[in-house]
Amino acid sequence: MSEKLGSIKLEKIDHIGIAIKDMDKALKFHTEILGLEANVETSAEFKVKIAFLPLGEVLIELLEPTSPDSDVMKRIKKRGEGLDHIAYRVKDIDDTLNTLKKAGVKLIHEKGVPGGAGSRVAFLSVESTDGVLIELVERKGSEKG
Ligand code: ZN
Repeated sequence: MSEKLGSIKLEKIDHIGIAIKDMDKALKFHTEILGLEANVETSAEFKVKIAFLPLGEVLIELLEPTSPDSDVMKRIKKRGEGLDHIAYRVKDIDDTLNTLKKAGVKLIHEKGVPGGAGSRVAFLSVESTDGVLIELVERKGSEKG
């Protein structure tokens, strides 16, 4: 089977994003009850506090908005807390975005922007993805980034 014109190559599920209002409460549940380990950082780009919790090959990503105009806060106001997005790992994010653009996919970011743990990320518009918010992630160097 040859690849269709315009198709991209996803490497794996990188992480699952969960939008929350209270990081301390969510961390307590995820570390003390679920037994995961967390690395917490903040993102000026997305105006969120981020906790990455490795679970096998995938990361769970908790996102707490740090500003009322954070996109995560807007989504929490619209849909409540909970599952926010799924993130797919790609090798070259800008190349992938170019291919998607040519295929007519609506993009929120046309180039990779700084994500958590030194990654570069971009979101696709839900208008093109059947309502699922999809993030692309490029990680250079270590697997966990
Ligand atoms: Zn994410």
